[in-house]
Amino acid sequence: MRHLIYADNAATTKLDIDAFEAMKPYLLEEYGNPSQPYLFGKKAQRAIMEARKTIAECINAEPGQIFFTSGGTESDNWAIKCYGGSPGDVRVIVTSAIEHHAVLNACKNLDKLHSIVYLPVDKSGVVSSEDLQKSLDWHGKPICTCMTFFSSVMLANNEIGTIQPIKELATAAHSMGACFHTDAVQAVGHITIDVKELGVDLLSASAHKFNGPKGVGFLYDRGRNLYPHNDGGSQEEGRRAGTENVAGIVGMAVALKNNTVKLNENMAHLSSLEDRLVTQLRNYNLDFIRNGSENHLPGLLSLSFKGADGEMLLHRLDLMGICVSTGAACDTKTTQVSHVLKAIGLNEEYAKGTIRISLGKNNTIEDCDAIADGIMKILTAAKKV
Ligand code: PLP
Repeated sequence: MRHLIYADNAATTKLDIDAFEAMKPYLLEEYGNPSQPYLFGKKAQRAIMEARKTIAECINAEPGQIFFTSGGTESDNWAIKCYGGSPGDVRVIVTSAIEHHAVLNACKNLDKLHSIVYLPVDKSGVVSSEDLQKSLDWHGKPICTCMTFFSSVMLANNEIGTIQPIKELATAAHSMGACFHTDAVQAVGHITIDVKELGVDLLSASAHKFNGPKGVGFLYDRGRNLYPHNDGGSQEEGRRAGTENVAGIVGMAVALKNNTVKLNENMAHLSSLEDRLVTQLRNYNLDFIRNGSENHLPGLLSLSFKGADGEMLLHRLDLMGICVSTGAACDTKTTQVSHVLKAIGLNEEYAKGTIRISLGKNNTIEDCDAIADGIMKILTAAKKV
């Protein structure tokens, strides 16, 4: 079988072998329901408790501030839809134009009842804290006493890798009396996360983005202010009903711990890989723009090739055994440029030729050379047609 070069780690990652081994007993032997009072159930309950403690330590939180969910989408929805006082409150929700659809569509769902503001970003995808502050300034005149202010800006963008100035943004939100949530799905396990240092109130994470299993994640809730988003049993202190995904939670904690311990090593490895890839592409004299800011997720490259077709590139690379993602997808008639590339104002000539290469800790220099070589061959062949 041909060697697969997996370079789509922002979509999902390979399961950490230690996480897999740690999960196995909770699927095959220790399969008791953690809500049951007998010893067999208590073993599962203890495993959840330990996992909560480990995860809290990895992000400098308290165990009681960690709530388990089914992943990033649920954590984002819970944070956005369930913050505030009573269901009758009037909410102002400020977010950015480049959020993941888990955030954007959750906001869209609320826009008939609440006021939603989408902040612009600069060319490199950065949200300004002054813009956030201004959008939360209702001139000191809330329209009613039950008005709540909420803001949500992602920590790192999944398409272009830009890391936001979260500490500044959270401070700006707090200065206007607003709660601050960050979707940290792409960042947790990849860069240092210290919730106290960042000053965020809520933070979403997803295990499968940091070598944990799929279908499990967590929400950090500093003030424990969220109301439950589903009705049922008393799991997660009655705030997130449903039997816990014990094996998933255990695997997530092991994966996060392993990535956290090796964070500096992984970041250095990924930075050297991305440098190699960019250098090789430049050596081939290809006309491309690298999107995103200087401060970006290590190993994530959003590259826009002039006059190219990103979807064609993706499929041709696939034929070479290379997995990447695109920033522009074709429907039957037109090429749709993603909302992120539109928001950074990327020229159409480049935008349509965008691919996302997200390298992971298992990638090598040889992988980068093969990717660069593949791109060069595809683009050279396309020019001749
Ligand atoms: N938020 C961001 C920034 C993401 O990249 C993703 C997944 O791609 C999600 C949320 C959704 O996470 P999940 O797949 O765990 O639902």
